[in-house]
Amino acid sequence: MGLPLRCLAVSFISLLLSSFSFSAQLKQEAPPATPILGFSPLHAAAEHQLESTFQSIPSPEKAREWHRTFTAEPHPAASDRNNQLADFVAGEWRKQGWEDVTLRRYDVLHSRPRNVSLEMTAPVQFTASLREDAYDADPDTKNPAVSGAYFGYSASGDVTAEVIYAHSGSPEDYDLLRKNGISVKGKIVLVRYTNPYSYRGFKALTAEREGAAALLIYSDPADDGYTHGKVFPDGPWGPESHIQRGAITYDYIVPGDPTTPGWASVPGAKHIAPEEARSLPKIVALPLSWRDAKPLLENMNGPEAPKDWQGAMPISYRFTGTVKAHVKVDMDTSMQPYTVVEARLRGSELPDEWVLLGNHRDAWVFGGVDPSSGTASMMELTRSLGELKQRGIRPRRTIVVCSWDGEEYALTGSTEWGEQFADDLKKKLVAYLNVDESVAGAATTAGPEGLRFSPSAVASLAPMLVEASKDVRAPSGKSLYEAWRATAMRDSKASTPPFDSALVETRIGSGSDHTVFLNHLGRPVINLGFIGDYGVYHSMYDDHYWMTHIGDPAFEYHVALTRIWGLVALRLANSDTPPFDFGFNGTALEQFLREFEQKNKVEQQRLRLKRLHARIAEFEKAGDLLRNAVARDLLSGSPSPEKIQRLNERLLQVESNWLDPAGIPGRPWFQHLLYSSRYTYAHLEFPGLTEAVEKQDWKLAAEQAVLLEKAVKKNTRLLKSAQSSWEKNKP
Ligand SMILES: [Zn+2]
Repeated sequence: MGLPLRCLAVSFISLLLSSFSFSAQLKQEAPPATPILGFSPLHAAAEHQLESTFQSIPSPEKAREWHRTFTAEPHPAASDRNNQLADFVAGEWRKQGWEDVTLRRYDVLHSRPRNVSLEMTAPVQFTASLREDAYDADPDTKNPAVSGAYFGYSASGDVTAEVIYAHSGSPEDYDLLRKNGISVKGKIVLVRYTNPYSYRGFKALTAEREGAAALLIYSDPADDGYTHGKVFPDGPWGPESHIQRGAITYDYIVPGDPTTPGWASVPGAKHIAPEEARSLPKIVALPLSWRDAKPLLENMNGPEAPKDWQGAMPISYRFTGTVKAHVKVDMDTSMQPYTVVEARLRGSELPDEWVLLGNHRDAWVFGGVDPSSGTASMMELTRSLGELKQRGIRPRRTIVVCSWDGEEYALTGSTEWGEQFADDLKKKLVAYLNVDESVAGAATTAGPEGLRFSPSAVASLAPMLVEASKDVRAPSGKSLYEAWRATAMRDSKASTPPFDSALVETRIGSGSDHTVFLNHLGRPVINLGFIGDYGVYHSMYDDHYWMTHIGDPAFEYHVALTRIWGLVALRLANSDTPPFDFGFNGTALEQFLREFEQKNKVEQQRLRLKRLHARIAEFEKAGDLLRNAVARDLLSGSPSPEKIQRLNERLLQVESNWLDPAGIPGRPWFQHLLYSSRYTYAHLEFPGLTEAVEKQDWKLAAEQAVLLEKAVKKNTRLLKSAQSSWEKNKP
């Protein structure tokens, strides 16, 4: 019998409450449900029931099917296949019962190769293949649609010059070359990807500033190849011809469409000229496999480079030699449509508070790990939440889900979407839960403890994430929480497990779609994923074969990720009061500040941080008191909806108060005073203060410290007013 949807779709809380009270009558002495942060005991009991229903839905077989669909063909941004997948996602979400399914189109400056080549012209002739080898074991590697080597947003150009090896391409590497009397002006610089790792867009900007004419970045076997273990197709590491594609955009300055920095690329929007775009590189650049880089390196005959510059090829790595090369890069840089797919499950009680889930759809090639592992986990999540809704169980708050586009180019889809809906998001967004790669590691080589769960989160949400992990089972058979502790111990070679609070990485860099929400809009974010052995990043071998034979053959990590992602989303969506812990947030800030002082050895007479320490201590105390008062009242009674509403409004305001509308010095788009990323994508806490001190600009540093003091003070005041209003109005 068909009932109107509106009648069926009552709130899950009221639905489960009725069954709860019914069973409570039958069994008077039923043990109290395990508490959940932010829930009253009654609602926690209902939530536990709902969560066990939810957790029974995702299936490894379905996750495998999704994975196959998304990895069947290469699907970079702006390709026909990626656009077809947008329609596919929209269609599936409609079938799953999601509401307001919408395709958002953004016309943005895109970049793709027309013609790319590299030849060595002296001392011997050699033409780089710029291609990856096919293997019989994996028919996908024979797909003619696979691209060769290229970098998104490389400049076009034709360069013939001497080749110089510059190690990792960091500023200190060029300093060492200079000390050895070597200038890279007008030369072709060859660098490796890792040692230490830095985002390729940082290597590009550094080479550009050094005056190099072209940049080649190759994957040394020491970084992600045979040094670590078996290579594809026998193991997780990169074979000789694997190429790490990628973009080299300067999106650490401003992400998104380079021609609309800070505003959305919607119809009618103003676009600046590409020449004016701060995020567009001006250098010609190409990625190389180590097989293509080897002839260049082994034909050098100049001075030998130091020990830590040596890679794992059986040659001696030299600074220079008589090697000359000809690099030609012809890019088609033109406006193309990107599509963000958006859908929601409207909240039954608080429709104007949103919990946002997201994953990017575009891949450099097949995207076995990046991002289609995340996409498979997301599609299982939307299927499971859709099924709950079909059974009449709606979240209290609205859950929004997005399939982003062009993440690989400049975090473009999420940035444009975030900029378009900035006003709504600032008011309504409780948190953004990002999953880029859900399984970036090989279960087959991970050992008995399995892959490591490796989330990052703003500190205020770290405790709720740890709590949720106790209710999910890991593929090893332990709870996700136990498995997390065990793998953290294993990987850090520690003899005791870390404290719960140290499990979550609360330092957040850039490099994925959380960036606009945290750094530009001041909303709390969480990133989730499993990690382990993985050496085929952004290569053709990052595909379905890799995942089904090496990465996650049973697809149980995909499902574990769906479960923890869903649990966190449901708890944020259904809680009486969002489970922020600002006491712990304060603890983390104090730790960040101490690390900053130790690292920079700041002298008292240069910069006084005593006041900032004191403000943080006050914030921490106010956070602890508020958290305890709310928990006490939730446990002992049922505070009125009005009282809870007043509290929630204030809690949602805290993250916004960390924003400075002027932005951090030199990067106005990045407005968060606590979090930003370095140009390498590495995390950067207190960005304005830290960068000022690193430049020894003491006046600016003092100003930045005052800004921080003011923001912390404002939030302490907010927490205190939340507490006094909470305690004044009983219930
Ligand atoms: Zn990705």
